[in-house]
Amino acid sequence: MTRRWTPDSWQACEARQLPDYDDKAALAAVTQQLSTQPPLVFAGEARELKRSLGEAGAGRAFLLQAGDCAETFVNFHPDAIRDTFRVILQMAAVLTYASKLPIVKMGRMAGQFAKPRSAPSETHGDVTLPAWRGDSINDIAFTAEARHADPARMLRAHSQSAATLNHLRAMSSGGYANLREVQSWTHAFMNQSPWADRYRALADRIGDALDFMEACGIDPRTQPSLQTVRFFTGHEALLLPYEQAMARADPATGEYFGTSAHFLWVGDRTRFEGSAHIEFLRGIANPIGIKCGPSLAPDTLVALLDTLNPKREAGRITLITRMGSDLIGRHLPPLIAAVAREGHEVTWCSDPMHANVVRTASGLKTRPFDRILTEVKDYFAIHRAEGSFPGGVHVEMTGLDVTECTGGAVAITADGLSDRYHTHCDPRLNAAQSLELAFLVGEMLGQ
Ligand code: PEP
Ligand code: MN
Repeated sequence: MTRRWTPDSWQACEARQLPDYDDKAALAAVTQQLSTQPPLVFAGEARELKRSLGEAGAGRAFLLQAGDCAETFVNFHPDAIRDTFRVILQMAAVLTYASKLPIVKMGRMAGQFAKPRSAPSETHGDVTLPAWRGDSINDIAFTAEARHADPARMLRAHSQSAATLNHLRAMSSGGYANLREVQSWTHAFMNQSPWADRYRALADRIGDALDFMEACGIDPRTQPSLQTVRFFTGHEALLLPYEQAMARADPATGEYFGTSAHFLWVGDRTRFEGSAHIEFLRGIANPIGIKCGPSLAPDTLVALLDTLNPKREAGRITLITRMGSDLIGRHLPPLIAAVAREGHEVTWCSDPMHANVVRTASGLKTRPFDRILTEVKDYFAIHRAEGSFPGGVHVEMTGLDVTECTGGAVAITADGLSDRYHTHCDPRLNAAQSLELAFLVGEMLGQ
C-alpha cells in the first residue's frame, strides 16, 4: 500500500535522530510561525538545479558540493561566509579549467544546522547529558540547560540561513564572483602551499583568455556568465518539523518544494526503507541526495530509488557515496551495477570525508588527507571501469586556516591538530587542502 503523501505524512513513520521536544505547545507555535516566514528558495531555482544535476549525471557537467559539517550560531560572521565562498569559487575555477565542463556549485551553507549523532548522550565524569544535535536543536555547552532541545532555535536557524543566503546571493551577482577577480580569491595564508603557485599560474591563464576575448571584441563585462555565478545551497533534511514548516506548494503547479534549500539530502543513518525522512523527501519536488554508506545493500538502494524517483526523472537523485578508502572497492561496484541493471538515472557523487574518520592518540577526531585522496581516486577509477560517470564531489571544508585534517602539502601532523582545531562537529579541509584536492580532482576529470 502506498500512503498518501502530505507534508506531515512522515509523522506516521519511524523517525530516528530527531529531538524529543518536551513542550509540544511551544513546538507547534514555532512551526506555525516558521510556516509564515518567507521561503528561502524558489521552485524555479530548485528546478534549474535539478536540470544541472541531470547534466552532471549524464557526464556533461560536474557537481562541487562543499562547506561546513555544521553551521553554528557562534561562528556566524560575514567574513567566514565570504572565505568559504571564495575557496569554493577557486576550487570551481580549477575544476572548470581542467575538465572544460560546467561546474555546478553548491554550498553546505545557509541551512546546515541539524546533525545526526552516533550516540544519543554524552558522559563526562559522572555527568551524562543529551548529545549536541546541531544549533537548530540545542546548544553545545555541556550543561543540562544548554543541551535541552528548544524549538525556538529553529527560528534563529531560519533567520541566520536567510542572512547567509542573502550574503551569498549578493556575492554571486554583485561583482565579487566576476571571473576578473579570480586572482583575488586567494588567501594570504595559502602562500606557503605549493598549490597556491599553481593557482596563480592558472589565474594568469584565465586572465589572458579574458584579455584575448576582449581584444577580439567580446567584452567580458557584458557576459553574465563571466560576471556572476549560479550558486546553490543544500543541507541534510534531518530536522523534519523545520523542513515540514518550510515545505510549500508551488502556486504554478501545486507541487510541493522544500524551500529551506535548493537541494536536500537524507543522511546515512536515516535512509532506511520506510523511514520518516524518506517519506518526507518522497513528496517534495527538489533534487535530493541519498548518502550511501557501506551498509547499504544494492536491493535496498533500488527500492529507495523506486520510492523517491518513481518517474525516473534525470537530476532528481544524487547518490553521495561515502564508503571509506578501505571499503569503496568492495561496496561501490555492486551499487553501480544495480542502478544500471534497473535503468535508474542518477548523479553519482563522492563524499570522501565521512567514512575516513580516525581518532588520534589524544582523542581528537581527524581525517587523514591521503585517505580522502585515495577514496576519490578509487571513486574515479571504479566509475571509469563500470562505464558510469563520476558526476561530483562533496567535501567538508572551510575558508578558514584550521588544522583539523592531517596531511596535505603543508603537512599537518597529529600533534599539530590542536593548533587551530575549531570544528563543532567533523574535521574540515582547510583552504589549502581544499585547493589541493580540487587540483587532483581536476587532473582525474581532465583525463
Ligand atoms: C554529514 O554529511 O555531515 C553526515 C552526517 O554524513 P553521513 O550521513 O554520510 O554520515
Ligand atoms: Mn559531517
